Amino acid sequence: MPSASKKTTGHVALVGAGPGDPGLITLRGIECLRRADVVMFDYLVNSAIVEHAPESAERICLGKHGRSRIWPQDEINRRLVELAQAGKHVVRLKGGDPAVFAHGAEEIDALRQHNITFEVVPGITAALAAGSYAGIPITHRKLASAVALVTGHEENDKESAAVDYGALAAFPGTLVVYMGVTTAPTWTAALISAGRSAETPTAIVRRCSLPDQRMIQCTLGEVAEKMTGEKKIRPPAIVIVGEVTTLASSLSWFDKRPLFGQTIMVTRPRQQAASLASSLEELGANVVVQPAIRITEPEDWKPVDTAIEQLADYDWLVFSSTNGVNFFFERLFELGHDVRALGGLKLAAVGPGTADELARFHLHVDVRPDDFNAESLTSALSDKARGKRFLLPRASRGREVLPDDLRSAGGSVDQIVVYRSLDVEHPDRDVAKRLADGGIDWITVTSSAIAQSLVQLFGDDLRPPRLPCLSPLTSHTLRELGHDPPLEAQDHIT
Ligand code: SAH
Repeated sequence: MPSASKKTTGHVALVGAGPGDPGLITLRGIECLRRADVVMFDYLVNSAIVEHAPESAERICLGKHGRSRIWPQDEINRRLVELAQAGKHVVRLKGGDPAVFAHGAEEIDALRQHNITFEVVPGITAALAAGSYAGIPITHRKLASAVALVTGHEENDKESAAVDYGALAAFPGTLVVYMGVTTAPTWTAALISAGRSAETPTAIVRRCSLPDQRMIQCTLGEVAEKMTGEKKIRPPAIVIVGEVTTLASSLSWFDKRPLFGQTIMVTRPRQQAASLASSLEELGANVVVQPAIRITEPEDWKPVDTAIEQLADYDWLVFSSTNGVNFFFERLFELGHDVRALGGLKLAAVGPGTADELARFHLHVDVRPDDFNAESLTSALSDKARGKRFLLPRASRGREVLPDDLRSAGGSVDQIVVYRSLDVEHPDRDVAKRLADGGIDWITVTSSAIAQSLVQLFGDDLRPPRLPCLSPLTSHTLRELGHDPPLEAQDHIT
């Protein structure tokens, strides 16, 4: 009997990506993305969500208004079928929920016609997200017992299911209008002439769940003007019509977070930007990551390798940064050693951050300064330095205070460059433009090297934003460069 040749068949998951905040996707949605060979996504989908797909997955953006070609629906359907027939696991990632004003049924029809297996993973639709993030409960025991989701953008050639404004005007509950920005004059006039009061309290919520979310409370009669006037609202925005919108002032929380509305540029090297960025985001900030320096391997590992082979000759191993710890141990392990190579070496770290990084390797420091800088580490070590050999893994550039002081205290010091810290030479074009246009409120300055590189990168464009500093040392550098830091961190962790 011939062996059955196993035909691999593809699969399509229609996945709701939620309204914008990358945290608002379901666990099932993420699971589907992790297994995807191809992701086809709408332009409104946050790119951070697409990142859940494996690096090897093909990413197809289906177009952005004014930026690139927008795929017609037929072509999307065709491509979905082709990819699945070629055996691919495809995730069709859609903003909000895949079945709310999203052509979900058409895509499923195309798949069914070709016997392609599929699943649908719901997402948080804009109406629900706008409600939660703007403090508007879309139903309410006293104010609204029903909700209608309505399109504000009717296709001209739609033969059936045209919006029945008479029924909507009489609808006993909240109306939520999608895609109603450019068409606002038409649908609001239709609702009002069908009998809904022009005085009905209304809220327009733009880019809900994103750091630049905006909400305007007005009446139904004023919506069109808000959408077309000088400070007009641009899509994507959703309009909630009904008494429930009056609760927003007491129930909103998203825009009450302390850093809401502030755009902050985080300038740490990319590997270290995430933790600072996410703490700031938790407080409501809109974070833009633009590293001012980048961290990379040393040009030559030989001196490091030699020192590692001779570790037993040293008394102390002294780290001055978390990068130093990581690059040193990565190399140690790459050479086939494990932590036993450290033998009886004593360990020191300039600050608690560096000591914590050592703790990740289950290593405890033998001396830890009270204050967090090189000077205080030297004073902590000075009575132990006489006649001892110190090995200092360090960056390609850095301060000389520690080695100099250890030498004057009678120690002998070898330094090895375990990583290079280089200035970033070209900023991201969009970020630079945003800064020049006054679109950035704060820039974090977390080291002297970053302060120097920022001045090189942006010159006078650094003037309007405020530059909070990590430490007195960083503030000093910044002042020397002609900028006055408005804030300095109370605790600074190295
Ligand atoms: N499937 C989507 C809707 C697609 S139609 C969903 O379930 O949400 C596109 C419309 O959705 C936009 O015109 C706008 O009205 C609304 N929308 C999508 N994301 C939004 C957001 N972050 N803030 C406000 N409205 C949004």
